[in-house]
Amino acid sequence: MKNKSYISTVIANWKMHNDFNAALDLVIKIFSYSNMAKNVEKIICPPAVNIIPLYDQFKNSTFSLGAQNINENNEGTYTGEISVNMLKNYITHAIIGHSERREIFNESNYTISLKAKALLSNKIVPVICVGEPLEIYKKNRSVEFINNQLFEILSKIQTNSEILIAYEPIWSIGNKNPADPVYVEKIITKSKDFLSTIRPIRNVNHKFLYGGSVNSKNVLDYTKQQNIDGVLVGSASLDASEFGKIVLQISNNG
Ligand code: PEP
Repeated sequence: MKNKSYISTVIANWKMHNDFNAALDLVIKIFSYSNMAKNVEKIICPPAVNIIPLYDQFKNSTFSLGAQNINENNEGTYTGEISVNMLKNYITHAIIGHSERREIFNESNYTISLKAKALLSNKIVPVICVGEPLEIYKKNRSVEFINNQLFEILSKIQTNSEILIAYEPIWSIGNKNPADPVYVEKIITKSKDFLSTIRPIRNVNHKFLYGGSVNSKNVLDYTKQQNIDGVLVGSASLDASEFGKIVLQISNNG
């Protein structure tokens, strides 16, 4: 049983979906279903272009706004990129190191570490994604793989601020193959143990979320586990009633 002061986190990752009108419509619907939900930290990460136009909606809500990615540099000749500096007055969180960014845009643990530093120095909470591909999972080498990601991203970071880590096994993403909650609990427990050995950040306040085909039917199977501190939701966060149900279930049941 999780202790009473414990608050789970739910993050919506909309990826590259929704133009402004669709995003506004979805936000209004999600708020109507779940803005009143208590005891759950709620963060929505729309595409970057919608962050500032949606900001006023969020100001009067119980939800926070987050980004799906940021550039690690403060400014400069980086065509098409967006810095933390440009978003810091509008967001509280930013996802970094999502497997799609690693695979499609070749982001390394080193770059993700720089992104985490840039966010922390601007007082934005990084949501650092880690997770193994299918072949590593099949070889039973997930723990070693994730520990390496955690070490390479976090071992040079000095901070007292909160960090979030999203464990997203790559084979479970895409709304078809949710990982076994007991397996996720085992991996997250081991990752928390490992994190406590990484000297510079071992005492920072952190939460470990799970991401991978979470929906309103399976969400509590994850959040009821002792060490799973919340969920990162992709596909199901694009459906207001489904996402609203996810938020309300966490709010009512932990
Ligand atoms: C994601 O891509 O981060 C994710 C968790 O997606 P889905 O919920 O669709 O598996």
